[in-house]
Amino acid sequence: DMQATPDYAAILETICAEVQPLLSQGKVASYIPQLSRVSGYHFGMAVYCLDGQTFAIGDAHQKFSLQSVTKLFALALAFSREGDSIWHRVGREPSGNPFNSLVQLEYEKGKPRNPFINAGALVMTDILSSRFVQSDIAVLQFARLIADENCIDFDLAVAQSERETAHRNYAIAHLMKDFGNLHNPVKTVIDSYCRQCSITMTCAELAKAGGFLAQHGTIPWSGAQILDASSAKRLNALMLTCGTYDAAGDFAYRVGLPAKSGVGGGILALVPGELAVAVWSPGLDHTGNSLAGTYALERFTTLTSRSIF
Ligand code: GLU
Repeated sequence: DMQATPDYAAILETICAEVQPLLSQGKVASYIPQLSRVSGYHFGMAVYCLDGQTFAIGDAHQKFSLQSVTKLFALALAFSREGDSIWHRVGREPSGNPFNSLVQLEYEKGKPRNPFINAGALVMTDILSSRFVQSDIAVLQFARLIADENCIDFDLAVAQSERETAHRNYAIAHLMKDFGNLHNPVKTVIDSYCRQCSITMTCAELAKAGGFLAQHGTIPWSGAQILDASSAKRLNALMLTCGTYDAAGDFAYRVGLPAKSGVGGGILALVPGELAVAVWSPGLDHTGNSLAGTYALERFTTLTSRSIF
C-alpha cells in the first residue's frame, strides 16, 4: 500500500465526537433479558495494526457481550479442523432473512444458508461438539489464543438468561435434528451455543483477536498459522456477504470491509493486510447491527481511505 499511514489516534477522536448524538437513537437488544440491562450510551473503538500498534477510544477497555461475533470464532475453529467438509452441512449464501428465521430451513431441508445465521452457527456448534469434549470451552480457548488474553471468559448470567428464553433456537435445532443435520443432542448444542455467545471481550481485545484474519490466517505476534491464506480469504468473503445480518449489502456499501456483528452491539471489521478494528455501542438499528458502531466504521473507512474496494 503506497498510502501514508493515517493518524489513527486523531481519527478515532473525531469519530468518537461524531457518534455522540447517535447514542440515543439505537435500541438495546431486549429479547435476551440480561442484555437489556446494559446502557445504550456506551461507545468504544479500537484499532489493532498488524505491526503491533494499537489505538483505543471511549469505552474500548470495557467488556461487552460478544454474542454473534463468536460465530466467527466457531467457524474459524471448525473450518481449521474440518476443512471444506463443513460445506456439506451449511451453505455460503446470504440468507435474505432475519438471523433467527426458521422459514428457509424448512424448504431447504435443514441445511442453513450460512454459518453466521443462528441455524448455521448451531451446526458449527454441533460439529465442534462431535470433535471436542465441550464445544464452548474449545471456542473459549480459541478466543483466548487469538486475543492473546487468558482472562477472557463466559458471562454465565447472560448464558443462563439466553438459555431460559431460547425457544426459537430450540425450534431451529429440533427442525435440523429432524432433517438429520444435528448429530448431538439438541440440549447439548443449545447449552454450548448459549455459553459461547456469552463470551465477553473489550474492543481492544476483539481488535487484536481479529489480527490473524487480517494477516491472512497467521497470528501477527506469534507467527502461528490458524488458517492458510486461502481459507482466511474465504472467511473474509463470508464476513463481507453474510457477517452483518440481513444488512450485509448495505454494510458493504457504507463501510466496505468484511465484518461480523452481534446483538450485544459489537462489530469486528478487517482491512486485510493492514489492521483489525473493533467497535462497540449497544444501541442497535432496525437490522440488528450497532447503530453508532456501523456509522463509526463508515467514517473510519472514509477518513482513513481504507476499504477492500
Ligand atoms: N445468542 C444470540 C442468539 O442466538 C446471538 C444473536 C446475535 O448476536 O445475533 O439469539
